[in-house]
Amino acid sequence: MSFDYDLFVIGGGSGGVRAARVAAQGGAKVALAEEDRYGGTCVIRGCVPKKLMVFASEFPNAIADAAAYGWTVHAGGFDWSVFKAKLDAELDRLENVYRGILKNNGVETYDMRARVVGAHEVELSDGTRKSAKHILLAMGGQPVKPEQPGAELGITSNDIFHLPELPKSMLIVGGGYIACEFAGILNGLGVDVTQYYRGAQILRGFDGEARGLVSDEMIQNGVKLHLGTNVLSMEKVEGGIEVKATNGETQVFEHVMFATGRAPNTEGMGLEEVGVKLGRKGEVLVDDYSQTQVPSIYAVGDVTDRVNLTPVAIREGMAFVETVFNGNPTKPDHALIPTAIFTQPEMGTVGLSEEDAREQEPVEVYCTSFKPMQQSFAGRGDRVLMKLVVSQASRKVLGCHIVAPGAGEMIQLAGIAVKMGATKEDFDRTVAVHPTMSEELVTMKEPVRKG
Ligand code: NDP
Repeated sequence: MSFDYDLFVIGGGSGGVRAARVAAQGGAKVALAEEDRYGGTCVIRGCVPKKLMVFASEFPNAIADAAAYGWTVHAGGFDWSVFKAKLDAELDRLENVYRGILKNNGVETYDMRARVVGAHEVELSDGTRKSAKHILLAMGGQPVKPEQPGAELGITSNDIFHLPELPKSMLIVGGGYIACEFAGILNGLGVDVTQYYRGAQILRGFDGEARGLVSDEMIQNGVKLHLGTNVLSMEKVEGGIEVKATNGETQVFEHVMFATGRAPNTEGMGLEEVGVKLGRKGEVLVDDYSQTQVPSIYAVGDVTDRVNLTPVAIREGMAFVETVFNGNPTKPDHALIPTAIFTQPEMGTVGLSEEDAREQEPVEVYCTSFKPMQQSFAGRGDRVLMKLVVSQASRKVLGCHIVAPGAGEMIQLAGIAVKMGATKEDFDRTVAVHPTMSEELVTMKEPVRKG
């Protein structure tokens, strides 16, 4: 049977573009459909614009520090319109880079929605149908708002980059990556930020001590964090949105942003009709090789709701090409993924939290928290944290947790050692780089806790 394409990819984000490119470079005839902008969540409305906003928001502290170091400086004000114009131009540039990658590798692109109509067939929104030996689902996910009265008045992280002006006040709902990162960003840009999280501590699932320090520092920096608090109802009033909260308070905010999780983009895609199985959240269910219940259809990235991170989607996309086009069955490796949360302060983490490690086996915990030299000299009270969770039996470092400026950069490197199975003694054998914050990772002598 002959097909129009060897591979049809639905979704032009990190996972889809990488798989399309690598398959095409190997000689496959590839097409890709994207209904929105090329680059997907990461490039257009996620990691990239978010990180640029983190940079923008860190200047007030840097300027204050400069003054403390003896510079004559005047902070002045932040002009959102200047930043936003540059941000828009940068995202246009990056989108073109993504389009260029596809074009230069001979991938045919369709700037429209596609849905699956058969094991080997997709239908584009203009009604044309294309056949392919393999179909790759890489549609990603989107933010979801909770179902509660007035929720439609709130925005999500998709909208934050398009605000015509920065609000004076903002309520952020949620305690995950996105909520905590934007609380720090907007606070740094001068917005009066309140954050409601329904649980006892933000960043559920991460190491308890590290979460505690991030939370303390966020409050110290001016975020009005209310734990054990959620929105009851919202109503439009003069000057903003009136929010009734579960803690009994009623307050008006100019904007409310929901960062209450994301859902896979599988609705209306025709998937169950052709036999692709979906999970409870609508995620595409796949095996270890990213293959769905329909042998010719695979899925990678957030649409599968495995580990929702760009570099993981990219790895999954490459493993898919290796498996399907290079005759080399390859499982994407989801173990010991280092990751950073761009809160202020930043958190970098790899491996098990102390809590999860203790459930697994007896551990030793090495941990230190201190005021780093640069900020301490400037008179700031910020603290950082360096922590290793070590197996008593194997001496392997099971988890490494860093809360510090630049923690994302540090954990990338510590992650190599942890992935290689380094022991505490391997860390100790490594000479400290002095004076740095991360040298503490190789100089902690006595465990602070055992058991
Ligand atoms: P998360 O699932 O991480 O967090 C959702 C938050 O919203 C949780 O605190 C959750 O509370 C809360 N929540 C859920 N439902 C409700 C509700 N009905 N009412 C009130 N609160 C609610 O999602 P995010 O949107 O923050 O991030 C999605 C994913 O994107 C992340 O898991 C991550 O993989 C990825 N990401 C990665 C980044 C990075 O690498 N730096 C940055 C941003 C995103 P509870 O804890 O009680 O369930």
